[in-house]
Amino acid sequence: MLWKNYVLSSSRITRRLHKSPRKSSFSKNFFITGCLLTVGAVSSYLTYRYTSERENKHELSPSYFVKYKISHKRDIDSSHFLLEVTPLFKQKVNIWSLMTAENLWSVEIKQPEVMVVRNYTPLPLKFNPASKEIEILKDGDNADGKLSFYIKKYENGEVARWLHHLPKGHIIEIRGPFIDYEFPHLPNELKRSRDCLYMDNRNERGNNVRENSQFIYQPYDIMMFTAGTGIVTALQLLLTESPFRGTIKLFHTDKNIKQLGPLYPILLRLQASNRVQLKIFETDRQTKQDVLKSIQKSITKPYPYKGLLPFSNVSNKNVMPVLALVCGPESYINSISGRKYDLNQGPVGGLLSKEGWNSDNVYKLS
Ligand SMILES: Cc1cc2nc3c(=O)[nH]c(=O)nc-3n(C[C@H](O)[C@H](O)[C@H](O)COP(=O)(O)OP(=O)(O)OC[C@H]3O[C@@H](n4cnc5c(N)ncnc54)[C@H](O)[C@@H]3O)c2cc1C
Repeated sequence: MLWKNYVLSSSRITRRLHKSPRKSSFSKNFFITGCLLTVGAVSSYLTYRYTSERENKHELSPSYFVKYKISHKRDIDSSHFLLEVTPLFKQKVNIWSLMTAENLWSVEIKQPEVMVVRNYTPLPLKFNPASKEIEILKDGDNADGKLSFYIKKYENGEVARWLHHLPKGHIIEIRGPFIDYEFPHLPNELKRSRDCLYMDNRNERGNNVRENSQFIYQPYDIMMFTAGTGIVTALQLLLTESPFRGTIKLFHTDKNIKQLGPLYPILLRLQASNRVQLKIFETDRQTKQDVLKSIQKSITKPYPYKGLLPFSNVSNKNVMPVLALVCGPESYINSISGRKYDLNQGPVGGLLSKEGWNSDNVYKLS
């Protein structure tokens, strides 16, 4: 009971429900079509939960904690690290096939000594002990349920610091998934291939194999504004099984790009594969004011979301964003999109409002 009360009363814990209320205003069309068409996704998710409950509570679930052991930890610098955890029991459900890019999701990791949980955003990556490389999971592979995280530890931070000190083999407890943002469900939509993301899938000249994407619905584009570890939200959408189908125009701000470690080459690969249009800003090289000025110059006006249209073509030349997602520290969110009040979105302000974006098409992630 104490545990529950503490968790519920902590203002630092921003996502309580396993399924956030659907964002209500990403244009009327988006909302209505989304509501009607999520039925399939939700029912399959409930089936998954029901099944998992029967599996002796070994399958990842939002309603109880499951044990994982730390299987790999790699420091990138003094405050950033990659963490891979492996469930004690192989996961039967492939969470990546289940979630796809229709859901942005996180899990909660429990710190048992101080009785708190924190959210972390898994990435579909695994460590290959033979090559010592980080690999992107392939379609159908859930690596038996391994989860990988990119984490920053803060000097006074409770959980990230604790996680960083834990030795390999240590057992931690995780629950989830918790859905942080839900895109409209596209019934019977075809998967987007990830073949172009694997290093071995290039032609002899080292060029990408040209992607020949055919979908049922016309993809739409989005803009994402991330700072620091906020990059994980974009990476999850871009790397998950059946990744985001439109183009993501990604503005990422970091102190120094080296802080991304092996995630940076992955981002470059995504860019070379026309999945993302990358705009990187380093505060080691530019003042924050100059970064904001540069970002402002590149923000396009919002395009209307037109609902589920039949597929016509994939064009990544002219990005026409219908939604802007913002994820980073409080001051960054303030500058880009106006203040977020804990669980409330707050009015849209900052650079985005100057370019005509509003609460119909902006969502601030934590
Ligand atoms: C949905 C969601 C997904 C998340 N995914 C990730 C992820 O994948 N990787 C990741 O590293 N984090 C992620 N976070 C943030 C994470 O949940 C914790 O808030 C973070 O690790 C700090 O927790 P802590 O216990 O270490 O620090 P706390 O004890 O909460 O904080 C102590 C001090 O650290 C500093 N601090 C904490 N957070 C920040 C911040 N964001 N910016 C600046 N200073 C800060 C402040 O000085 C604060 O007073 C996510 C959060 C949410 C809500």
